[in-house]
Amino acid sequence: MTLKEIKAGQSACVLAVGGTGALRQHFLDMGIIPGTDIKVIKYAPMGDPVEIRLHGYELTLRLDDADKIEVEPVPERDRQKKAIADPVNEHLGLGEGGRFHPKGSGNPLPDGTVLSFALVGNQNSGKTTLFNQLTGSKQHVGNFPGVTVDRKDGAILGQENTVITDLPGIYSMSPYSSEELVSRNFVLNEKPKGIIDIVDVTNIERNLYLTMQLLEMGIPVVVALNMMDEMTGNGGSVDVNTMEALLGVPVVPISAAKNQGVHELVDHALHVAKYQEKPQKQDFCDENDHNGAVHRCLHAVIHLIQDHAESAGLPVRFAACKAIEGDELIINQLDLDQNEKETLEHITLQMEKERGLDRSAAIADMRFSYITKVCDLCVKKPRESREHARSQKIDKLLTGKYTAIPVFIAVMGLVFFLTFNVIGATLQDLLATGIEALTGVVDGALTSAGVNRAIHGLIIKGIFEGVGSVLSFLPIIVTMFLFLSLLEDSGYIARVAFVMDKLLRKLGLSGRSIVPMLIGFGCTVPAVMSTRTLPSERDRKMTILLTPFMSCTAKLPIYAFFVNAFFPAHKALIMIGLYLLGIVIGILVAFLYKKTMFKGEAVPFVMELPNYRLPSVRNTLQLLWEKSKDFLQRAFSVILIATIVVWFLQSFSFKFNLVDNSQDSILAALAGLIAPLFKPLGLGDWRIVTSLISGTMAKESVVSILEVLFSAEGNIAAVISSLSAASLLVFSLLYTPCVAAIAAIRRELGHKWAIYVILWQCAVAWVAALLVRLIGLLFGIA
Ligand code: GDP
Ligand code: MG
Repeated sequence: MTLKEIKAGQSACVLAVGGTGALRQHFLDMGIIPGTDIKVIKYAPMGDPVEIRLHGYELTLRLDDADKIEVEPVPERDRQKKAIADPVNEHLGLGEGGRFHPKGSGNPLPDGTVLSFALVGNQNSGKTTLFNQLTGSKQHVGNFPGVTVDRKDGAILGQENTVITDLPGIYSMSPYSSEELVSRNFVLNEKPKGIIDIVDVTNIERNLYLTMQLLEMGIPVVVALNMMDEMTGNGGSVDVNTMEALLGVPVVPISAAKNQGVHELVDHALHVAKYQEKPQKQDFCDENDHNGAVHRCLHAVIHLIQDHAESAGLPVRFAACKAIEGDELIINQLDLDQNEKETLEHITLQMEKERGLDRSAAIADMRFSYITKVCDLCVKKPRESREHARSQKIDKLLTGKYTAIPVFIAVMGLVFFLTFNVIGATLQDLLATGIEALTGVVDGALTSAGVNRAIHGLIIKGIFEGVGSVLSFLPIIVTMFLFLSLLEDSGYIARVAFVMDKLLRKLGLSGRSIVPMLIGFGCTVPAVMSTRTLPSERDRKMTILLTPFMSCTAKLPIYAFFVNAFFPAHKALIMIGLYLLGIVIGILVAFLYKKTMFKGEAVPFVMELPNYRLPSVRNTLQLLWEKSKDFLQRAFSVILIATIVVWFLQSFSFKFNLVDNSQDSILAALAGLIAPLFKPLGLGDWRIVTSLISGTMAKESVVSILEVLFSAEGNIAAVISSLSAASLLVFSLLYTPCVAAIAAIRRELGHKWAIYVILWQCAVAWVAALLVRLIGLLFGIA
């Protein structure tokens, strides 16, 4: 039978792992290996995917993928201890020549050499938290697998000549998603002077799997056992000295969040890098396991390819493992001749026969067996941690069969309600009143000083009212980001992905795509960047192309402006309607993509569900500060400049005479050229066209420009009809994202797709706005 048939709450033992290629390797790397016990925790509310527990951590799988895993039901059992007489497996292998060198002062790197470190670890193991502690920097921390999507460099505080690089989280050195390849290539090609391997000690078995592979890289390694606070807090402990002996590298228990043990970690890291102390052990294959089938195979291949690996600049043991697993990238780099390739195949076939497992499973099993030994000897497992027990309880509600979706809708509703109605709105009113008062004071001062009429206009109409109207949105935007980041930090968004996977699959996407979409309600730029965690190019492209349909916070000022002027009675209704309209059109477009450009299935949904964690105050405040800074910078650069330029163009004629009526201005003439395009939408007024164009710089500037241009009229409602206003709202919701977002899309997908997005969004917006107008005319709302 297969894993798919196991009921929630029951356990099974893996017999065989099906599937092919990278996916299968990924299963193995995540610890799904013949002989492993798996407990089915629960099925998602819509019956798919399933959450399972193995090696002490939780993982999600789609039923289709679970169907590839053959199992036999077993009662839930504790892993039996394998007694080992000789814990430190002493057989000597190539690449371990220097292992008895005394720790200390042999062959230091010359003074002044820059010590570069790679920060490597599983997703969500606390790399970014540690990076921030080490460098004093302010990167975003999240409780979602895969928040670090960009590489970041920084120097260790107080240590000159050091560079530390925060890499995307990876589970293994076999590339599965594009960012895993980034991390692997960084270690292989840039050859950092040292690796800081960060291990989540509450999930130690799965985390050590990566460690085992890092030890093969021939680069000095320090293991940081992170989340030690949670471990000891629940009665667990680690025998660090024995672990050091078993792994052959320094092991330092730390708590990155509480900044404990970090100094010691730095000392060790600097030491091993300075003296280039390579891991003292690489040989983790067991001579006695199944007659040493894997051990003999590995050593044979090591000798076979040694010269090739050296000339290709690859660590030999790493290359041998990968060659046995059949990793094409590495085999090509090794450049073996025909005879050697055949020998490799023969050796591997022999091993498969003796071991009774296929090559990838055999290698993965070899690593996990050693890890099991290490953990049996050094780790006193905590009782079920409070955090975990709490998470299970919370999950009963948040991912429960009947509660999950109502809770999701309620949570999102609450977020929007608090943002727009309670916290954000109150603060916004305060700020707006303040700005208004200040404007009044300055206005009075300018009048009494008798300042030139044009300059007076620029300062009051242009800067104060234009930029001021945008500025008052700061509280709402920051509040929105606050809630999104709280959701992400706490671990809830990972559950949303789990719950929504089945629905999103109908659109041809995977549950993971929900994250960029939700972030898209804040801002399209980070949303586009966060798609890098999606393991398939197809999903990634499709998700990026859909994020612009999620209405970003910068469009809020536009909505508020028009709703206040035209539909004050239906404020909330229209706001919610716009958000929903964006989502609905996004869904329609997704269907269209699925049928045309992006045929095929979304990739497997193999994802970890982290424990819920309380977001830290420091990180949250940091994020608020960053977002406010971003916004203020934009308000006082792009938006201010756009406002001044527009004011200038609308105040002067082509002969640079100050015009009385802005109808005669340069701007009116220029915008008049494009205006006919907008005529069918009822938006033929040159001033509206201008504001929309400047909106491509930053959406907020639509409002500041309208303030400037319609100041003579007093109220925009005197100029356009409410039906036109409705068209305009829909157009603003959908038309091309701002330049920053386009630049982000270009970075991810190249300029062709960026141009496509501009044209496509404008076309969709135009058609939708026209429909609104036609429907309006049909019902006689002129
Ligand atoms: P990354 O994905 O590896 O970069 O991990 P992050 O740095 O984003 O951290 C993931 C989560 O673990 C966040 O919620 C952190 O607050 C939390 N975390 C990090 N270090 C510790 C620690 O030492 N103890 C505890 N209890 N939580 C931590
Ligand atoms: Mg990170």
